[in-house]
Amino acid sequence: MDSSSDHSPPSSLHSPGDVQNVKFCQWCGGPTKHEIPEGEERLRAICTSCGKITYQNPKMVVGCLIEHDNKVLLCKRKIEPSYGLWTLPAGYLEIGESAMEGAIRETREEANADVEVISPFAQLDIPLIGQTYIIFLARLKKPHFSPGPESSECLLFSLNEIPFSSLSFSSMVVTLSLYVEDMKAGGKPKFHYGTINKRPGTSASDIHAYTLDHHMQS
Ligand SMILES: [Zn+2]
Repeated sequence: MDSSSDHSPPSSLHSPGDVQNVKFCQWCGGPTKHEIPEGEERLRAICTSCGKITYQNPKMVVGCLIEHDNKVLLCKRKIEPSYGLWTLPAGYLEIGESAMEGAIRETREEANADVEVISPFAQLDIPLIGQTYIIFLARLKKPHFSPGPESSECLLFSLNEIPFSSLSFSSMVVTLSLYVEDMKAGGKPKFHYGTINKRPGTSASDIHAYTLDHHMQS
């Protein structure tokens, strides 16, 4: 991982947060026009009917890194994207939840596991796709888990068994790499902040073609 570089996404790339994709007003359903509003710097989707702006902001993905008997719990995805690949239990935060509550809920849904959060482990921003991952360390309240509707398998992996070549997302590669480094360096996980950026010219589907920038740990 490279901690010194700072790559901007190519301007031609139509990311999921591309304002041009917002064709209708979120407030009244009217058609939008795309302009830079007075006093702002970014192109926005402005309603031609009611005049309100539909803002696009990053989404938060929350999840748990569950430690049990010196192993970590991973789920094999039974849904797209990344069908058949391994992930920590994680998903989008819902309105009305704290990040911790969302992480516990996602773990219940994806692994039928009841967990207690120990501490925050990582905040990883992915500016290119407008996502921020918040991952908590957690432990099983009872030694029970099984695949939920979005998972085909849930398994405990020792540090040396983590399937790095078949993980679902770059965020999972980064999270689990940092965890393994912490554990091998002294057995106590730290808290990590960092920004995941694609290496220029690499395929969007290559989850290993990233840099972890602005990495800070405590
Ligand atoms: Zn409107």
